[in-house]
Amino acid sequence: MKAAILYAPHDMRLALRDDPVLEPGDLILRVKATTICGTDIRVYRGRKTAGIRYPSVIGHEFSGEIIASGGSETYTPGLRVGVCPAIPCGRCTQCLRGLENLCPDLQAIGYEIDGAFAEYIRIPARAVELGNVHVLSDTVTDCDAALIEPFACVLNGQNKVGLQQGDKVVILGAGPIGALHVKLARLRGASRVIVSEPNAARRAAALQAGADVVIDPSAVDLRAAVRSETRGQGANVVICAIGIPSLAAQAVGLAAKGGGISLFAGFSNGELGTLDVNAIHYDELRVTGSFGLSRRDYEDALNMVTDGRIDLRDMVTHRYGLQEVAAAFAMAESGAAMKVAITDV
Ligand SMILES: [Zn+2]
Ligand SMILES: [Zn+2]
Repeated sequence: MKAAILYAPHDMRLALRDDPVLEPGDLILRVKATTICGTDIRVYRGRKTAGIRYPSVIGHEFSGEIIASGGSETYTPGLRVGVCPAIPCGRCTQCLRGLENLCPDLQAIGYEIDGAFAEYIRIPARAVELGNVHVLSDTVTDCDAALIEPFACVLNGQNKVGLQQGDKVVILGAGPIGALHVKLARLRGASRVIVSEPNAARRAAALQAGADVVIDPSAVDLRAAVRSETRGQGANVVICAIGIPSLAAQAVGLAAKGGGISLFAGFSNGELGTLDVNAIHYDELRVTGSFGLSRRDYEDALNMVTDGRIDLRDMVTHRYGLQEVAAAFAMAESGAAMKVAITDV
């Protein structure tokens, strides 16, 4: 089959490799759509190396059609499926405490297991048994299904920071993740959604996604602007959708007393930041991390999209065939796109 093989950081090329081999209980999918994640770009640039093998195939946001099934009666050839890429062990203390995304033995498709920038992908029997595979309804497009994974990560982040109905919310960064945070915050009943983003096209996309106010932090004082948009109070929830330590520090200054700050985006290994610990203490701020997703987050996210409560159809702005994977990554890196998809159509 054809696959985009990551040989080393900055070296990903289309090549032929053996088709995946079906073992008992496995599924083989023909990949229908794979979207490029910010994490894929960090992996490509060598900024994220944990769990990455060379050579390997990355790509963890995908949907596909079953072409071979190793014995399952539920999952039969011809069905379209979405797949939660994170496969927990199910036995460790984190798994038992409902924190399976933090499982030390987590195996993820697109990292430890070959991913979806390829013609075909093997879904291991263990993922099939654990309920990671979901048959898609006709209302969910191939690209929608690929976007369930990042949307589920966003859901995890908002659950961890406790975003509630009536909250005034600030989202720092209006890339694809920021736009998904806007959509979900709206659905959860946020009373005001304020987005800070220096890129004008992305500010427009944030408004389209449902933001009430967009701010250009390169043109105005962000803290003053947020105060004036929140009647001087600050935001109940601040979401950092860009992994820059100085931005996390700024986020603390945007929160209302008793507010929450979600460090949603990943930082580079070894990066340290400085936070105003005095404000965290006296204003009783909560700083929450969030990493990846659980199987439940995936199912919840898929249900919201299947039932039409969240519309993801405007998220994919650029589509490429697998043979154009280099151009697709260049587009995703340029920042001129929202989501970039590799599709077979
Ligand atoms: Zn992702
Ligand atoms: Zn575990």
